Amino acid sequence: MLFSAIEQAPADPILGLTEAFKADPRSNKINLGVGIYKNEAGQTPVLDSVKRAETALLEQVTSKSYLGIEGVPAYAKAVQALLFGSESALLKDNRVFTAQAPGGTGSLRVAAEFLNKVAGANKIWVSNPTWANHSAIFQAAGLEVASYSYYDKASHGLNFDGMVADLEAAKAGDVLLVHGCCHNPTGIDLNLDQWKAVAELCLAKGLVPLFDFAYQGFAKGIDEDAAGLRLVAEHLPEVMVANSFSKNFGLYNERIGAVSLIASNQEEGARAFSQVKRLIRGIYSNPPAHGALIVSHILNDAELTALWHSEVAEMRDRIQQMRTIFVSKLGEAGIDQDFSFIERQNGMFSFSGLTPEQVAQLKDEHGIYIVGSGRISVAGMTLSNMDNLVAGIKAVL
Ligand code: PMP
Repeated sequence: MLFSAIEQAPADPILGLTEAFKADPRSNKINLGVGIYKNEAGQTPVLDSVKRAETALLEQVTSKSYLGIEGVPAYAKAVQALLFGSESALLKDNRVFTAQAPGGTGSLRVAAEFLNKVAGANKIWVSNPTWANHSAIFQAAGLEVASYSYYDKASHGLNFDGMVADLEAAKAGDVLLVHGCCHNPTGIDLNLDQWKAVAELCLAKGLVPLFDFAYQGFAKGIDEDAAGLRLVAEHLPEVMVANSFSKNFGLYNERIGAVSLIASNQEEGARAFSQVKRLIRGIYSNPPAHGALIVSHILNDAELTALWHSEVAEMRDRIQQMRTIFVSKLGEAGIDQDFSFIERQNGMFSFSGLTPEQVAQLKDEHGIYIVGSGRISVAGMTLSNMDNLVAGIKAVL
């Protein structure tokens, strides 16, 4: 008997919260746990650009035969242009190789498998704190996970000096995991000078950066948010990117992302990429088609691309508006603790500074669900739940 002695796995801290939320009978409950965009009506809608692409695809599709291991070719090209800009010298020099993969998570896993099993990397450095799933993904691929300072509790800002100091201990061949924009969970990103310093540090120490890019378009804009990635990629011979279209295309359940590798030159890149394909063949053989067809259809159609840009801007602007209203309502409620930093953070999340006790009290006494670290999904705030939220927070402070 193999199964009888197996222990129960712990519930996932974030997805477990959603289950508890669903089971809560209170009508004024608020879910600010999982990172899913919600509109003012509290729904996660299918984007119009996606609906229009799906309608067109339904007419066009003639076969459900397998894709190649690396997925839809037009998709890979569209991803590269989105990441690096269509005029990028990296693309002209054929240094970028992209495989479609199942979501950001699948892309990170493929990247990690490649870095460990093929490129021989042993250690990956992740920010403290980071997305809760990073350690599990990287450890499963055989990488040792080390952490570098990132968040400065006192200023609610970036501890860049601490980050650089901690990375002094990194060794040549180690991997540096960075969030391309909208750092999860803190919402605090590097500025361009800091990205430049990171690029120089990687070059000096022989580190390979792996960009986790799950929120392109949610901070400042689609091209603006790629500025750090583009700067680092121009400076370094070898970079990897795992990007996701779960959030910016709202394609959460289509599981669509990509893993890209940038090599020193085309010949080395082609050899390395052949190994990425070999790994994929042994994991899921080849990716599902639908999400990639949607994304490549939109990005190869000027009108749909413009519509998608406006839909991303609408999501970004709504979240930013919620930040502004949240901070001003906390002030109006007579809370003198300074929460103005929430307006300066990027993306879906805000690291609120609420303690685990306050988080537990918010859930038990007010039906307000946020992650134990104090991470609030700002995307779950609406004009209609804002007053209850502020009243709950006031009560637990
Ligand atoms: N990286 C980060 C930083 C994320 O926040 C997420 C999603 N929560 C992912 C990767 C994974 O994205 P996906 O759902 O596409 O697997």
